[in-house]
Amino acid sequence: MNKSVYLDNAATTKMYPEVKEAMLPYLEERFANSSTNYEEGMENRRVLEAARKSIAKCIGARPEEIFFTSGGSESDNWAIKCVAGDNKAKGTHIITQKTEHHAVLNSCDYLEKLGYEVTYLDVDKSGIVDMRQLKDNTGSDTTLITIMYGNNEIGTVQPIGEIGLWARRKGVIFHCDGVAAVGQVPIDLTRLPVDLMSASGHKFHGPKGVGFLYIRTGVHVPSFIHGGAQEKGKRAGTENLASIVGMAKALEISVNRMNETVEREIRLRNYLVDRVMREIRDVKYNGSSIYRLPGNASFSFMGVEAVALLVLMEEEGIIASAGSACNTGKSRTSHVISAIKVPEEYAVGTLRFTLGADTTREDIDWTVESLKRNIKLLRMI
Ligand SMILES: *Cc1c(COP(=O)(O)O)cnc(C)c1O
Repeated sequence: MNKSVYLDNAATTKMYPEVKEAMLPYLEERFANSSTNYEEGMENRRVLEAARKSIAKCIGARPEEIFFTSGGSESDNWAIKCVAGDNKAKGTHIITQKTEHHAVLNSCDYLEKLGYEVTYLDVDKSGIVDMRQLKDNTGSDTTLITIMYGNNEIGTVQPIGEIGLWARRKGVIFHCDGVAAVGQVPIDLTRLPVDLMSASGHKFHGPKGVGFLYIRTGVHVPSFIHGGAQEKGKRAGTENLASIVGMAKALEISVNRMNETVEREIRLRNYLVDRVMREIRDVKYNGSSIYRLPGNASFSFMGVEAVALLVLMEEEGIIASAGSACNTGKSRTSHVISAIKVPEEYAVGTLRFTLGADTTREDIDWTVESLKRNIKLLRMI
């Protein structure tokens, strides 16, 4: 992308150069189907299993708990629809919350049309789920709780440990959409009481169109994609080996550099937030200041159309986002911004900045100057 400042890493990230290098052999000569029994196929099967092992190690899972998919959306759909279907005789009630990604919300919506009952929990002003409401709504017919780890728009990190312990106590399966968090913050599933977790390669500097679903040993999730016997019969389709190898490489690099990256992103993010809050008037900082993904900063500027501001900033080489639910050409408040009750005169002026592995202090300085200049301009009109 021919832009100098890319601050939309929650939408997607640039692949690490090492990822492409790791993928190339499987896009070229080493193309054998990893389910075949000649030498090249068996060798690719070993490569596939090594990638699985590497990914498992990065998040405190066992290799047999990692199932490759086409990305975050498929993982979410699989977990939610198949757990709901599998437990239909036990109950048809599902609990989620209002700021989930549409891969979760629209899967729940689909289940509602099939006759399931879904509770959408409220969140507080910082986007944290209402634990009291969660407990009050868990019944004997509840079979699934699905709550995200970190929010992709406002960065809020949910109390996953607490939610997981509650789900366990109630014998309810707990799925966590970890797409915005895996590769961004340390995740240790030996300690985190999560049954199922979704992740996606392109959110941590890996390739697009590849992800995985973590399924804890002992938790039953039927197949979503039916066909051949790949992924222990749980997810049919010839394995996307090049992308899987790339994803494993990306996660390995992200986890190896984790401490350093987290510290750097928090420092730069806080610098951005401090400057914006000090130098621009009538602005709200969305989300939690404590429970937050390191690279996320979300602001709502009063009396400004986010879409117009983004166009002006793009002309100055800066890429940010108005939030994932925004229609191009028409400002509309996202469901996340509505859920945290940002006042209407601020809501339309919501901008999300998500930092990445290569964001610099100079990028932030240029962004703040551009914000100041263009907000002043738009507020004059
Ligand atoms: C990006 C994202 C998804 C969807 O992942 P894809 O791999 O793009 O399908 C799901 N949930 C969250 C929280 C995300 O940020």
